[in-house]
Amino acid sequence: MMHETEGSPVSLSPAENRSVATSAAVPPATESKASPKLAQASQATLPLIDSFGRVHRSLRISVTDRCNIRCQYCMPEVAQFMDSEKLLSFEEIAQFARISATLGIRKLRITGGEPLMRPELHRLLRMLCQIESLEGLALTTNGMLLAQQIDDLVAAGLRRVNISLDTLNEEVFRRLSRRSGLDQVLAGIEAAIAQPLLVVRLNALVMRDVNFDEVLDLVGFARERNLALRFIEFMPLDAERAWNRSQMVSGDEMRARIEGRFGKLVPAQIKDPAQPATDFAFANGSGLVGFIDSVTQPFCSACDRLRLTADGKLRNCLFGREEWDVREVLRSDAVRECQDAAAVEAVVRTCLRAKRAAHGIDAADFSPPVRAMFQIGG
Ligand code: SAM
Ligand code: SF4
Repeated sequence: MMHETEGSPVSLSPAENRSVATSAAVPPATESKASPKLAQASQATLPLIDSFGRVHRSLRISVTDRCNIRCQYCMPEVAQFMDSEKLLSFEEIAQFARISATLGIRKLRITGGEPLMRPELHRLLRMLCQIESLEGLALTTNGMLLAQQIDDLVAAGLRRVNISLDTLNEEVFRRLSRRSGLDQVLAGIEAAIAQPLLVVRLNALVMRDVNFDEVLDLVGFARERNLALRFIEFMPLDAERAWNRSQMVSGDEMRARIEGRFGKLVPAQIKDPAQPATDFAFANGSGLVGFIDSVTQPFCSACDRLRLTADGKLRNCLFGREEWDVREVLRSDAVRECQDAAAVEAVVRTCLRAKRAAHGIDAADFSPPVRAMFQIGG
């Protein structure tokens, strides 16, 4: 079976396709291309470089703050959601993405909240896939609605999906997410695996008193399916401000536990220097396991990401306390008529200039951002 990676097509079996971390290529445009008016409006050639020399190529786009579950490390039990008129429309998101692409953004990740809660998300993906200079378009989801939507998403051009799976036990799922539905997540994973064009990866967040004892089961589950699995350290971004270091399990601690059962882990080739995960292969067989050690080993020096919230605010860091209003600019008459990409560019560059060297979780004066993870977009 032929799969496209960056550049030329290579031959990969579906299993290799899943366990090897390649960048999923955006399929060629099938409908209209990016607006020629827009291309004329922005002739930017300067890359998006911040004050510390980091070139920015990735944009995370949150499409909603709503979610069908309530993970305790992210959302409160009772949440106030954004009014729908505050959300960027698909057209506004696509316009911002097109302008960002002219500035050097090459990778997009759609997230939330739960992105599949946004009706007809596949329409947005189809629009984004038409941006010619993009090298990757990915989606992060809790998987609950994936089985129903996967055909539309893949048909729209999705080639890479990260699915969150923290537990294989329904009772733990209910405790962690304050809702039932593990079966739906597992069905979503199987539906994604059945798509030969899709690179599927699992993400797991571990809390010491909740699911630390499932680390080995999760690794076994991923290896049986030849899926790459990444463990994310619990960060102080939960809505209820209950984070504390003792609940966080470090990547090193998880790795030691995994090596105790599965044998030595060997560093895997780094495909993208800006990737937040450190990946390992198993010395004794197939599989890939990674660690996103945002708390114990921050990767700020290689960060190449900007974030757009569902209500159109641009952020230069998950932990930042400042946001820049893109929605206001996108809704101005000039930009609506595609005459003034420069106004959007100015916001992006201002946001970038203000980016700090590091998130500073360990600094004495650290305080978490006002918005929690589900409102920012993970
Ligand atoms: N709802 C989707 C999901 O859960 O995959 C996408 C949005 S969610 C905010 C994206 C990622 O953020 C998930 O992998 C989740 O585990 C992670 N996340 C949420 N809260 C976190 C926290 N406090 N620390 C670290 N990661 C967190
Ligand atoms: Fe929802 Fe994802 Fe947050 Fe869990 S982590 S509450 S699934 S947005």
